[in-house]
This record gives sequence, structure tokens and C-alpha cells, in this order.
Amino acid sequence: MIRMEGITRVFTTDEVETHALSGVHLEIARGEFVSIEGPSGSGKTTLLSVLGLLDAPTAGTYLLGGERVDGLSPLEAARVRNRQIGFVFQSFNLIGDLSVYENVELPLTYRDIAPAERKRRVSAALERVGMAHRAKHMPGQLSGGQQQRVAVARAVAGDPLILLADEPTGNLDSHNGDLVMGLLRELHAAGTTICMVTHNPEYAQQATRTVHLFDGRIVREHRPGQTAEAAAAGSDLGERVVSN
Ligand code: ADP
Repeated sequence: MIRMEGITRVFTTDEVETHALSGVHLEIARGEFVSIEGPSGSGKTTLLSVLGLLDAPTAGTYLLGGERVDGLSPLEAARVRNRQIGFVFQSFNLIGDLSVYENVELPLTYRDIAPAERKRRVSAALERVGMAHRAKHMPGQLSGGQQQRVAVARAVAGDPLILLADEPTGNLDSHNGDLVMGLLRELHAAGTTICMVTHNPEYAQQATRTVHLFDGRIVREHRPGQTAEAAAAGSDLGERVVSN
């Protein structure tokens, strides 16, 4: 469903080049739950931005749902992003003067979806995250954990190909972090494809695959829950050291 080959992103500031990503090869199949780990500055946010078409690679090919999306104009990228990608950010990013309902509805208003269908999708999404009873509330009236659940509803209401989550529990206490992780696991169990950046090793282990970045490269992949024997044998189910 997602196929990246040789993805490179170079930032040039004052004639100094930073290789935020260097030749990344990443495939994500439908229904996977991938977590991206790595030290600060290893390229996690850049990778998520390129995956979400918020940023364009300097080189490499990117296929999303079979469509080549690495060379799109900003307008085309926005169109694909709005249809195919759901985002959840560390800082929730809800619009403070729109109600919960209006926040979830907003991305759908940019699409050609009839009002009745829009209403059905917003209600279903709020139901899924357990926030239907807060539809008329304003974000400021909710706890951080509740705001993040609304942000998850907004991300999935459009039925995206993939849900991208950048440190979704980073601003939450452990109780609310656990609730949001539980919600992501439920969505995954119901078929949603997820790619999440997290610093929390316990949450990373709840994904079906972890991808370790270092210095803009994927250096290791791991499928939590596999046996040590499988890992040692280097089987597909095991840990894989990636040589670039
Ligand atoms: P992480 O999310 O793992 O902390 P980032 O993707 O934010 O890493 O950054 C990877 C590298 O790219 C870092 O060296 C960072 O300083 C650099 N970088 C990221 N964004 C920019 C930018 N807009 N301009 C210049 N350098 C950037």
C-alpha cells in the first residue's frame, strides 16, 4: 500500500546541507501497525512528513495506494493528503473556536461528500473514540486525553488509507497515554493501517513492526512478539538488520 524507495530529503541552510533522510526504503502493507523509533535528529518527523505529503523528498520514489506521489505539486499533494491520510499530532491541533463536532467535520467539508453522509461519518467517528457525548463541547472544555481522542476521530472520519501519528501520547500523562494507545490498538484491530512515531518503548512494542532510524537511515526492523529463535535465525518474522 505504501512503497518508498531511495527516499532522500536534504535541507540546505546557509549552504550547509543536512541529510535528514538518506535512501530510505520502506514498505507498509494494508493493516500493519508500524512504529518508528530513533534518537532525536534521526529523521523520524521528516519521514512522517514525507509519508503524509506535508514535505516532498529531494530524491526517491513514493507510491501511495499504487499512485506515484513523490513529484506532486503542492495543490495535488494537498488533494491526495486530504483523501488518503489521517494525522494525529502530539499537540492535538484542534481548532479552539470550533466545537468537537465541527473539528471532526472540517476535513470532510473540503471533499465532495453529501451533508447527510458527512454527518453519519462524524457521528460514527466520535462514537468510535467514545466522545459522542461531547460533540457540542469546545476543545478547551476537554482534558488532554479527550482532545487527543477527538483528534483521532478527525483523522479517521475520512476513512484514510493510513493514519500517521507523531508522538500521539507525548503530551499526555500515563493514564491518558494508555487510553489513546488502547484506542489506536482498537482501530488497528478493526483494520486501520497506522504508522506512529514514539519515544515510548512500551508503546512501540504494541505495534506489529518497529522501524529504527539512525542518521536518516533505517538501521533495524523488528516485529515485537516473535520468538528469540526466529530473531536469531533472521527469519522474516525475526529481527532484521538493514544494511544500506
Ligand atoms: P527527529 O524527528 O528524529 O528528531 P527530524 O526529522 O526532525 O528528526 O530531523 C532530522 C534532521 O534534519 C535533523 O538534523 C534536523 O536538524 C534536520 N532538519 C529537520 N527539519 C529541518 C528544516 N526544516 N531545515 C533544516 N534542517 C532540518
